[in-house]
Amino acid sequence: MTNPGSAGRVPRRRPPTRGEAGPFLAVKLDAPSTSSVALGLISLAALAVALFVPPVAQPTGYHAFADSRPWLGVPNFLDVVSNAGFAAAGVAGLVVTFTAHAAFKTPMERLPYAAFFAALVLTALGSAWYHLAPDNERLFWDRLPMTLAFMSLLCAQLADRVNARAGALALLPLMLAGAATVVYWRATERAGAGNLVPYAALQLLAVASLALMVVVRSRYSHGGAIAAVIAAYLAAKLGEHYDRAILDATHVVSGHTLKHAIAALGGFIVAWMVACRQPRPGA
Ligand SMILES: [Zn+2]
Repeated sequence: MTNPGSAGRVPRRRPPTRGEAGPFLAVKLDAPSTSSVALGLISLAALAVALFVPPVAQPTGYHAFADSRPWLGVPNFLDVVSNAGFAAAGVAGLVVTFTAHAAFKTPMERLPYAAFFAALVLTALGSAWYHLAPDNERLFWDRLPMTLAFMSLLCAQLADRVNARAGALALLPLMLAGAATVVYWRATERAGAGNLVPYAALQLLAVASLALMVVVRSRYSHGGAIAAVIAAYLAAKLGEHYDRAILDATHVVSGHTLKHAIAALGGFIVAWMVACRQPRPGA
């Protein structure tokens, strides 16, 4: 069925190169079966955390953000409009992903990137909706697309660094798993016994997996940009934590508004990476 010499065929294996970053991982993770095992282990770890860590409900004070100033009739103005950055990054990413000269060795490698950028656009809508009148019911629509963005970025990196097919195949199961944790969280909150643990565990594991994957050489140039994306994620978390302190210090912008801006910057970095990258020779 397949001509072994056909163009665009993904090489099954590549001999490890001396001096390459993460030689152990480069050897170990090159096989599709190994990446499946790695994915299975991530899922099992998330399941174990979900089963053995006591339930944690959404803290009641979470929705009381530092900056509630309205403007032009829009409540919580800056926390609402700062979500425009996610929409801009998502649209920019979708444009570069579908340009003819975008570097994808196989068509299926576009899928996780397309899902990631589409999820960013949906995050802009969901998060703006949430910040107009923050409560648990609306937070669901903020977290759902955000989780889809995390899972699809993880799959995009699996495709770039481990195995193109594994990245594409993992996309739907991981997105469904991410969505399931958010649906579960909302169901438990509605039942009066909220449990955030599976959602938080899966997000933590996704970020940890992304961080681990940075040491595995990408089949494309500009792969190091993912380290900057992880740094942006951590900086965004800091902004979230110091929401009020940053508003008190600046009197202009709150930590949560900055969180939106810095996280959106992470999306732009991914779009820039896709726009600039080239396949590595022989990878
Ligand atoms: Zn927010």
